[in-house]
Parts: sequence; C-alpha cells; structure tokens
Amino acid sequence: MLAENFEVSRLAIPAVSVLISFLAYTSQYFFHNFKPAPLTLDEGWALNIFALCIWVCYYRACFVDPGRLDKGKSVAPSRQEKDQSTGRQRWCRRCEAYKPPRAHHCKTCKRCIPKMDHHCPWTSNCVSYFTFPHFFRFLFYTVLGMGYLETLLWQRASIIWHERDMPSYLGPSVAQLVHLLLLIVVNSVTWLGLFILLVRTIGTILFNTTTIESWEIERHETLVRRARVLGGSLEGPGGVNIVIRKQEFPYDIGIFSNIVQAMGDTLNMFTWFWPFAASPDRNSGWTFKTNGFEDASVTWPPPDPDRIPIPKGSYSVNDPEIPLSYASARDQVEAFDRRQAADSDRLRPYSTVQRRKRFHERFQDEPNYDSDEDQPAGPTYGNDSDEGEESWRNSEGERLGDFGVDEDVEFYDEDDIPLGVLVEQRRGRQ
Ligand SMILES: [Zn+2]
Ligand SMILES: [Zn+2]
Repeated sequence: MLAENFEVSRLAIPAVSVLISFLAYTSQYFFHNFKPAPLTLDEGWALNIFALCIWVCYYRACFVDPGRLDKGKSVAPSRQEKDQSTGRQRWCRRCEAYKPPRAHHCKTCKRCIPKMDHHCPWTSNCVSYFTFPHFFRFLFYTVLGMGYLETLLWQRASIIWHERDMPSYLGPSVAQLVHLLLLIVVNSVTWLGLFILLVRTIGTILFNTTTIESWEIERHETLVRRARVLGGSLEGPGGVNIVIRKQEFPYDIGIFSNIVQAMGDTLNMFTWFWPFAASPDRNSGWTFKTNGFEDASVTWPPPDPDRIPIPKGSYSVNDPEIPLSYASARDQVEAFDRRQAADSDRLRPYSTVQRRKRFHERFQDEPNYDSDEDQPAGPTYGNDSDEGEESWRNSEGERLGDFGVDEDVEFYDEDDIPLGVLVEQRRGRQ
C-alpha cells in the first residue's frame, strides 16, 4: 500500500504535465486542421498566454519550498508562555522543536510546515503559507484558461452539428471527431473539478481557515456537542476531566486582511494575480494576528481529550522537581542521565502509540448515554491506526491524515516538553 502510494505520487507531476499539454497544444492542432473554423490569431494568442501562466504557476506550486523553521530561530517566548498558561504545549516530537501556531507536521515533507493547508498530491508539495499564492494562481488560471478552451471547443462542435446533413467527405474525419470528443470530455470533467476546488479555496481565503483548520472547527463542534450531553466536560486519558466550551476561531481578522494574508501579505492586488510574483517574505509565516474574540491565553486548536497524552510524568516550568541549579557536578551528570532517560521514554511510544478507543466504543455500554451524532461517513481504510479516535472523520468523510498531516504526531503532540528545554526556559525566566 505504501509502495503503491509512493509510485503514484512520483507520477503526479508528469501526469498533470501531460494533461496540460494535451489540452493546451493538441487542441490547437485540432483547430488548425478544422477547415470550417480554424483558430484565429487572437484565439491562438489567448490560448498560449493562458498555457504559459498555467505552466509558470504550476511549476512554482510544485517546487517553491513550503517553508521550514530555522532551528536557531525559536518562536517568540511570549507565545510559548501563553500556550503554557493553558497547560498545553506545542512541541513536535518528530522535529524536536516548538511547533509554531497554525503549523502542522507533514508526513511527506517530514517537517512542520507553516500555516499548512494540505499536502497536495497533484503538485507533490505542501500548500502552505509560502506556496498558497502560487497554488491559488494555478487554480485561477486553469479555471480561466480551460473555461476559454471549453467555449472554443463547443463552437466547433456546434458547427459540426449544424452541418451534420452534409456529405461526410466534406466534414471532419473520424479521427478529428474522436479527438474533439476526447478534448471536450477531458476538459469539461477537469474544469468542473478545478472550479469546485477554486470556489472552496476562495472560501478558505475569505475566512482565513486552512483546510486543516476547517477540519479542526468541525471536530471542535463535535466535541462541544458531546460535552453538552455529558455535562460540559469530556474524559481525557487517565480519567482527567477536560472542560470543553465553545471557542471562536481566532485567525479570521476581517475579509480584506484575510485576503492580504493569504496572498502573501501584500496589498498590491496586481501581484495577487501575477504568475511571477515573489513568494511571501521568508521571515513571516510563523506568527499570526488574532481577532481578539477570545482571551489571549486561549489557544487554537481547542482542547481535545483525544489529542492529549497520558498525563503520567508530566513536567511544568514551575515543577519543584526541576532544580534551578545543581549542587555539584555529580548532581548535574545524574540529572543529565535522568533527562536522557526521560527523553528516550518520551520518544519511544511514538512507533507504538497507545491509541484510545473510539468515543462511540467507550460509551456504548453507558445505558443513559444517547449519542446525538451520526456515525462517521465513508469507508474505513485498512490502516493500522483505524481503531483510535484519530480516525474521526468530518462530514465529508475526511480524517486529518487525508490532508497529509502526520496523525501520530498531531494527535499526541500536546506532549511534554523535554526536561532539558524546560530547565533552560526556567533559567531564562530568572
Ligand atoms: Zn514537526
Ligand atoms: Zn507536505
């Protein structure tokens, strides 16, 4: 299954390139040989300019770096403290680094991606803070260009229809008819799919929610519904009660500001549509303005009892067990050993993550419990991580992993910060 996916992903860019070439260039060959209405000069220019824009945007959507956190440059400490005030840490175990807000660990890119939208199989690249403008322009020009091609194809088809009673040797050859039919079918189907994707992408721009965040919003609504039935809180691992209250999405900062942020923090509307526009500034993308509807200490995503590790052995900055300084060198060495052991314990569970049972299974024996949710839609994959709550699906049947996110890390990312980092942090506070 994995090897299969690997092969498919390697074929994605060549396959899309063949598709673009088929539609953009063989259509021109068809028009040139179509005697009743050959391609006019203007039509030829328009088709080739659209094709050029599509190539440029596609190339950049595929090959622009979706971003990586410079290890030397950590996230602002104020942000870390904020997250700690809710007792939750944004620590990526795979990167061994702080996970900035809105970043997610991509399974394919193998690192945390800033403002990750999803890992796109058709570009073999992440749609992120840095690649989103290129991805959007690619969709924009394909929908525009293919829409234009569609009108040219239907014009020729209608000419053939009107002349259907003429002797066949005067009309187009069978090969031409088949070619035209193929062009119309392929162009219409692809155009419709991309048009729907473009409309949804514009939606994500207007509300400043990434595809992953839309999933998180739906997940949050489900948890709020569950909690309402169960008295305001849900049981987390180890029997801890986690209070769930409705939380506002913090990054929707007004339609115009949302658009500006999505298009790379530039007010110049011309560059929003310019295929050669520069990628967003590499220093941005790690912190984001919030709308202030929630208290500053409330973080996104909202608490999720199924995304919290078993609380055993948790440390906090104010933990009395962590000394500020060591009495002797020997103490320090011992502490170092302990820390290493704790760190390796922390890393070990990762290949054999202890999955919590699914919510429905946990409550199916509860006689008074009446679930108000529907069973998750869609078939379940033959995946070994299917039994846990991380196989929760939204109304469209998608789970977090479908967007390319590393589910093991995402669902258990509220992990303890390694002891060594905490000691450093505590020293920094003094
Ligand atoms: Zn990561
Ligand atoms: Zn990726």
